[in-house]
Amino acid sequence: MCGIVGYAGLGDSVTPVLEGLSRLEYRGYDSAGIALLHENQFQVYKKTGKLENLKQAIKSEKLSGHLSIGHTRWATHGEVNDINAHPHVNDQFCLVHNGIVENATELREELIADGFEFLSQTDSEVFLNLVTRESKKADSIESAITKAFQKIKGNSAFVILEQNTQKIYGIKRSAPLVCGLNSSTKELFFSSDPYALIGFTDSIYFPEDEVLCVGDFENKESPFSFSELDGSKSARYQKQKQSTNLDVASKGKFEHFMLKEIFEQPGLIVNFVEKYFSSEHFERLQALGNQQFSSINIAACGTAWHAGLMIKHYMESLARLRTNVELASEFRYRNPILDKTGLGLFISQSGETADTLASQELCSQENLKSWSIVNTEGSTLFRNCEENLMIYAGQEIGVASTKAFTLQVLTGYLLAKSFSGKLNEKLQEDLKNLSSAIEKVLGRVDEIKSIAKNIYN
Ligand code: GLU
Repeated sequence: MCGIVGYAGLGDSVTPVLEGLSRLEYRGYDSAGIALLHENQFQVYKKTGKLENLKQAIKSEKLSGHLSIGHTRWATHGEVNDINAHPHVNDQFCLVHNGIVENATELREELIADGFEFLSQTDSEVFLNLVTRESKKADSIESAITKAFQKIKGNSAFVILEQNTQKIYGIKRSAPLVCGLNSSTKELFFSSDPYALIGFTDSIYFPEDEVLCVGDFENKESPFSFSELDGSKSARYQKQKQSTNLDVASKGKFEHFMLKEIFEQPGLIVNFVEKYFSSEHFERLQALGNQQFSSINIAACGTAWHAGLMIKHYMESLARLRTNVELASEFRYRNPILDKTGLGLFISQSGETADTLASQELCSQENLKSWSIVNTEGSTLFRNCEENLMIYAGQEIGVASTKAFTLQVLTGYLLAKSFSGKLNEKLQEDLKNLSSAIEKVLGRVDEIKSIAKNIYN
């Protein structure tokens, strides 16, 4: 999964973009690039390999500009090299892309026949040229982007700059993209993950698919505007507050994030219990458990799928509810037989897992109710489900999930208890005991380490 970070504002645009890209490095990538608009000219730097290569390449440059976009690429179209790395640029537009343009081959041929030239082998450059072609006919940049976007197939997110405009544009379809605002400095951001923006922004906007987001840092009153593909004003986005506390983005005393997250578990469980056993949450959980379903279909990916296996166990043994758990990547494609009186339950830490989102859509087309067990409020899954059970795990950076897994399982456990009619206040004691038990185990880390060393030797 690639990383996108865009900036528009009066401050230094390069530092936050590079910092944001560093935070997204853990996802894996094969090359990195940054472009900035300097005196109506794009300056572009791209390097294969680690972000560090890019940082070294621009170290001696004096870069200044109010608008920048950066990208870490995971190649799908065209080999891994500096030219295919993003941003892609021509003499009017510059863009970064996450995803795949499915009909890139046909569009490329059409554009070549129209006289357009291509420097790279990417599907992303196809969109660049498409926007450029549309801009020759359209009455605004906004309309050029939306017209071009309607011509492409597949799931993609783009962040775009235009040479003569001090604005930054973003649009997506089934790919993650958020906008961020720092309300005191009036700096604007785009990113494929709100985590990249922690400490830079106090508000995050989660736009829905096919909503054009335009960031204008010169407009102090309403720096972001949202419109539909037909140009009409859009209200299809959610706004959330974001903590400007940088601690969540640092490893603290721990060697790596995964270790930090393992040690966060006892505290998070206590917090989770406080949340779910507050009267408002508790009554809601009870009301959810009173709903009648003939069966449950759980669709999830990776670790969340493993949490689903545990939750199946609770649903069947405690609540006697027949439960099917499936990898969302299989579920979405195999035309499953769905019980219309069943529940679709989707588990995802980010709420942006593409296969899980597609499985939810499938269930919703079949008129099943959709609920989620999710960590990210405002994410696509959160918005698309009728009910969401938050896991309150905070930011999870480790790719091998630990704390999110534990809290997903516990959330499913509480839901199963509720379906079984046995949700009671006493459970909070059990969960607090679990937290102390985990704490005790973690307190014996040195002892465990030495045992492990002895076994290994
Ligand atoms: N399809 C584009 C490429 O191959 C974008 C890949 C990505 O999401 O990083 O360059």
